[in-house]
Amino acid sequence: MSDISRRSFFKFLTLTAGATLVTHASNNDSSLHTLHKTKLLEKNSKQKRVVVVGGGIGGLTVAENIKANDPKNEIEVIILERNSHYFACPMSNTLFGEIKEVEDEKIPFIYTYNKAEKNHNIDVIITEMIDADVSKKMITTTLGTIEYDYVVVAPGIDYNYKKLFPTWSSEKIRRATKETPAAMFADSGKEKYILLDQLHAWKEEGGEGYFVIVPPKGGKVRCKPASYERACMVSEYIKKYNLPGKVYILDNASSPKAKGPVFIDIFIKEHRDTIVFNGMSATEMENRIKKAGFTLENFKKKANFSKVTDFFATCSIEDVDFDKKEIQFHYADSFDDDGKQDSLKYAIANIIPYHRGNKTAELFDVKRDAWGGVICAPNKIYSVSDSTVYVAGDIIGYHKFDPSAQASSTVGMLTGESIAKRILHGKDEIDFTKVGITCFSMVSTAPLKAIEISKTIVVTKEGLAKSDKTKLSIREGMGLIGWYQAMVETPFKY
Ligand SMILES: Cc1cc2nc3c(=O)[nH]c(=O)nc-3n(C[C@H](O)[C@H](O)[C@H](O)COP(=O)(O)OP(=O)(O)OC[C@H]3O[C@@H](n4cnc5c(N)ncnc54)[C@H](O)[C@@H]3O)c2cc1C
Repeated sequence: MSDISRRSFFKFLTLTAGATLVTHASNNDSSLHTLHKTKLLEKNSKQKRVVVVGGGIGGLTVAENIKANDPKNEIEVIILERNSHYFACPMSNTLFGEIKEVEDEKIPFIYTYNKAEKNHNIDVIITEMIDADVSKKMITTTLGTIEYDYVVVAPGIDYNYKKLFPTWSSEKIRRATKETPAAMFADSGKEKYILLDQLHAWKEEGGEGYFVIVPPKGGKVRCKPASYERACMVSEYIKKYNLPGKVYILDNASSPKAKGPVFIDIFIKEHRDTIVFNGMSATEMENRIKKAGFTLENFKKKANFSKVTDFFATCSIEDVDFDKKEIQFHYADSFDDDGKQDSLKYAIANIIPYHRGNKTAELFDVKRDAWGGVICAPNKIYSVSDSTVYVAGDIIGYHKFDPSAQASSTVGMLTGESIAKRILHGKDEIDFTKVGITCFSMVSTAPLKAIEISKTIVVTKEGLAKSDKTKLSIREGMGLIGWYQAMVETPFKY
């Protein structure tokens, strides 16, 4: 960052009484700034200011694309991000599988904001947003207040443990986050590394028993296939180290909730002895496919698969005993079975609760849906109740984009361009049909294979953008690595 922009950055902050430490992303620990009480200065009247809340894939992509469409530097873009570094979730499940190609390509998962700031003339302030006053166009952070002309709300998701376990105390929820973390957050990778440490310790202790994965029970979920991809990657680890243990997917649905038939096919063919789905081994799943009247060749067809899953078991989690390391659940052997209570001991458990919109979005006095998403105006990517409040990433409401890096990135590019054009040329347009959604799940290492799903977007006559045609295929896994480099690595590094 230049000295001029560094100076102007200090001007933005109205600090609370006393000395405060400010970490600026373009400075490392050696250059923490000690600021004293500073008077809020007027915004630079020559520049419009866009404040982006959340420096994840959505927020960062919007910020960079505003600047990419601002050749005369007439727009000031500032990101507020609470973590000094970002842990990228997409493809991070491959860390469980210790994939050689990912290691060979030296794929990073942890990023600072130094390069993004330098390459795109944006400022990233490491601070947490704690309040907002949309009537005054003012945001309060842990460092002080900042005014905006436009704000982009991009804080990602939160977990909703209370919906999954309504009777749990906050202490029990806290234990879940520490002992059986969901690892679906960009929380600097904290939860992911807890699980990875548990996996490595398990191997050292002999690797017996189950690595249980409980996918979210339903609702709008960030990257729906992620839990099944994770199962495949842990299975690869088990195979690599020849461990006696297995992955146990404990799911309230009778097939994976995304890319279902293809995942079942992969579990049977690539993870025969290492993945158990709702109590069913690969052989048991094959038997049930036969019982339904199909073969391994034809069961994946849509009409056939819906009949097959009537013969598949379900396991609906009800409680967890962290001391005994035991999960209680309701087991039903097939669609026609009333089921019974059951329990399962785990060596490691990855329990993923319902998701919800990040609570940071609640600080803006704008309309939100029941999930917590900010409701956009038809044909727009800003709030229906305040056209200066834009959204990016998983928090987008009204439009039906699957919460994903791909949607955060592609919609984010259009959003950045749209904001710049509105500010610079008074043109308020966005064409959602330019968005293409592609999502990969890495499913095996030898050979390296990924399941790809791609979707096109249509806009209804009500101005609602949603996915249209969907294509599902198995691809060579290097496709995922290339996708990751383009979607995730690029905004942070180039
Ligand atoms: C294991 C896993 C695998 C995945 N795989 C894929 C995949 O293959 N393909 C795909 O398309 N997607 C995938 N995803 C989904 C993808 O990672 C998310 O959809 C995407 O990161 C959403 O971007 P976002 O900007 O909305 O949120 P995030 O990337 O989570 O960024 C939000 C940022 O906001 C910050 N923030 C929140 N509140 C505040 C506050 N009050 N003040 C300041 N900062 C704040 C957070 O610290 C965070 O950095 C995967 C996710 C996971 C967990």
